[in-house]
Amino acid sequence: MIDSLRNLATKLKINPSEWSEKDLEAAELGWYPGHPIPEDPLRWGQTFQEGAHETLRNTQMRRNLGYATTKIRTKRGTRVDEMPDWQALRDAASNIKRNTMAHLPELLEQFEANVTARGGIVHWARDAEEANQIAYSIIKEKNVDEVVKVKSMATQEINFNEYLAKRGIQAWETDLAEMIVQLSNDMPSHVVVPAIHRNRAEVKAIFEARMGDAPPNMGNEPRELAMAARAHLRKKFLSAKVAISGSNMGIAETGTLSVFESEGNGRMCLTLPETLITIMGIEKLVPRYQDIEVFSQLLPRSATGERMNPYTSFWTGVTPGDGPQEFHLILLDNGRSKVLADPVGREALKCIRCGACMNICPVYQHVGGHAYNSVYPGPIGAILTPQLLGAFDHHDPASTLPFASSLCGACYEACPVQIDIPTILVHLRHRYTEENRGGIPSIWDVGMKATSKIMGSGKNMAAAGKAIHPARLIAGSDRKIGHIPLPIAQNWTHVRDIPAPPAQSFREWWKARDKEEQE
Ligand code: SF4
Repeated sequence: MIDSLRNLATKLKINPSEWSEKDLEAAELGWYPGHPIPEDPLRWGQTFQEGAHETLRNTQMRRNLGYATTKIRTKRGTRVDEMPDWQALRDAASNIKRNTMAHLPELLEQFEANVTARGGIVHWARDAEEANQIAYSIIKEKNVDEVVKVKSMATQEINFNEYLAKRGIQAWETDLAEMIVQLSNDMPSHVVVPAIHRNRAEVKAIFEARMGDAPPNMGNEPRELAMAARAHLRKKFLSAKVAISGSNMGIAETGTLSVFESEGNGRMCLTLPETLITIMGIEKLVPRYQDIEVFSQLLPRSATGERMNPYTSFWTGVTPGDGPQEFHLILLDNGRSKVLADPVGREALKCIRCGACMNICPVYQHVGGHAYNSVYPGPIGAILTPQLLGAFDHHDPASTLPFASSLCGACYEACPVQIDIPTILVHLRHRYTEENRGGIPSIWDVGMKATSKIMGSGKNMAAAGKAIHPARLIAGSDRKIGHIPLPIAQNWTHVRDIPAPPAQSFREWWKARDKEEQE
């Protein structure tokens, strides 16, 4: 296992936080290093297929994931069932977000004006480099060497912690799960529950190995682990002068920002330090304050199966004598305007990062978040990452993501903002096919061409129906055909059985039935 981890690290040209010897030794201590931190968190360098091969080998991770996703799904189901107007709320949320995307430039300007009017300072960042640079220059001015952070996907997307670390500033994650991920030099594998791939025995082992002040004789009960983390973090909260946050939603009409969370670490970060820097994707906007009414019901139920988030914080600019006295907002594009330009694909920007699509997805549940080779995993990652990156060339590993789905539609059913993920997946597969036309045809192209010849003609279909009859002979006693070691067929049958063809084709059955009726 350790050798294969070493090989993976080499193959991925891991930078800057390579798996250290210490990490690899930790595998012996009860936890394996997770996914090392890549140079580009949106594109880790492998295809989905390669990533899935790696993660499927980790049976412990799959067990942890199966347990956690089942638990969250059940809780979510209970909380959704008790809402008589769930569907109406989903309709409302979808309409609000669609309307936001249609008027995004105007709403962003309104938002900026209102944040500024209340004493905030707004910065615009085209990409990860710009966002990191802006935040770093603010932090540097404060002359500090550490900052505290609320869990934020936007900062994960731009490799913020690593950017600061290279410049001598330590960013402390204060969300428990995010802290576990950070201590183990790992990447998150879920947008809401970043350490979903770890069980409590692993968390205990990680704390013991990496958290300098872990209490002796700490058990692996969630309460004990949470107490240890709380004691560890409290010192950071009380000493930090600068905090970094994301935002669940920004409200254009008032210039207000919000964080919905469960542990209270967010509230500590948002209130105690003197300076607050929020990095927010430009799509995280709603037009009116009243819109929050809809999302504050949908988000906690979809994300963690709670009626409401234990801590919901709103802030608007700065208030003298109360909370941070300097507030900077960095509005991040990083490919979002590219997504907005695609009338079908832009629906992905409605996402409120609740993670419900991951918990329900049969593919995600088996392969886990790291298989997607991007900070955005699961069904939403499969449609968002390639669009943010404009990754449709077949040489780009991220272009394989729209194929990481069985198109079962469960994600669409679960999504609180009704993003039609299956339709977008098909749309992106189409874009991929169009953008890779020409050149030497692949085996898949040849196969599809041949199939279209057969399926385009009734005569050919009838002949093909007859021709596959003999395949019954190679089926086992369970009437299934296993591995066939022939070109093309072996790719298909390597991972799945196919049912034996029926004794009679549909056409033959129809003909026989007609004949019987006439007699
Ligand atoms: S796509 Fe929908 S279900 Fe998935 S994370 Fe986004 S809002 Fe939640």
